[in-house]
Amino acid sequence: MPKDLLTGSEGLVGSAIKRHSSKERDLVCVTKKQVDLTDFSATVKMMEDLRPERVFHAAAAVGGLGGNMRHPGELFRKNILINFNVLEAARVTGVKRVLSYLSTCIFPDKVEYPMKETSLHEGPPHPSNFGYAHAKRMIDIQSRAYRMEYGCDFITAVGTNLFGLNDNFNLLDGHALPSLIHKTYLAKRDGKDLTVWGSGKPLREFVFADDIARLSLWAMDEYHEETPLMFSHGEETSIRELVELIAKKMNFQGKIIFDDSKADGQYRKPSDVSKLKKFQPDFKFTSLEKAIEQTTKWFTASYPNIRM
Ligand code: GDP
Repeated sequence: MPKDLLTGSEGLVGSAIKRHSSKERDLVCVTKKQVDLTDFSATVKMMEDLRPERVFHAAAAVGGLGGNMRHPGELFRKNILINFNVLEAARVTGVKRVLSYLSTCIFPDKVEYPMKETSLHEGPPHPSNFGYAHAKRMIDIQSRAYRMEYGCDFITAVGTNLFGLNDNFNLLDGHALPSLIHKTYLAKRDGKDLTVWGSGKPLREFVFADDIARLSLWAMDEYHEETPLMFSHGEETSIRELVELIAKKMNFQGKIIFDDSKADGQYRKPSDVSKLKKFQPDFKFTSLEKAIEQTTKWFTASYPNIRM
């Protein structure tokens, strides 16, 4: 097997790739404690030392709605540096393939639904996501430009609302699903109401990180096109349905309050999954209920030793 490098191996997607990678695969993992990917020299040195043939690039600086609104500058700076350095270091050290991750949250705010892989640059992103979205879009540009000029077989995949074990469960800066698991845990423990941001009406496509990992292992071996590939099932769930499911799985019997004074963000962002279906017609996504059950069990067993 070719030697593979995994960046961000303690993160949501990275840790799932690590869990799903079989023993036969030659996978080396790096964490942010081992190498600062915002530092170009350190990134090149790490690749020269490890000499991977292929890279799963799962490292990123991420936030949910709150984090994106409060830190547009930091999220722009860190993601531009991390992505530029990883792809450039891969090019100069002769890495054959890099799989990087985009997200539907970086797509244009006013876009035709369902979102297609090809509409990524057809308009500005939602204002709540200004810094992160512009930085992440450059992964697509850099990968394609390097393919055109240097023949690098660098590919990209688009996640939707990902969640799972080792997520960031921060109450202010995390994504909706992990923050709501954490809030539900605290409300149940303290006998308090559960307060949910916004109206509960927005729709999201929640995808379990373990499914992203399984698709990533396949794509690294088999997918060679320059256009990104959507990694989703295309099924939407409202925030209200999500909260009810989390409450059920965590056995929370208290009151659920929707706080309309908090932002709803984008109303919906459904994805067009026809290209993935063409490549992987038999791929079975984990059901939302089962995936939430695994995540809430992991959260409860790990608390307070979680990222938050
Ligand atoms: P997005 O999909 O990029 O907008 O990011 P999120 O995962 O943060 O989802 C945001 C949606 O969930 C919005 O409609 C929020 O109003 C709603 N939401 C409800 N409660 C929470 C919460 O505790 N944290 C976050 N981040 N969003 C919440």
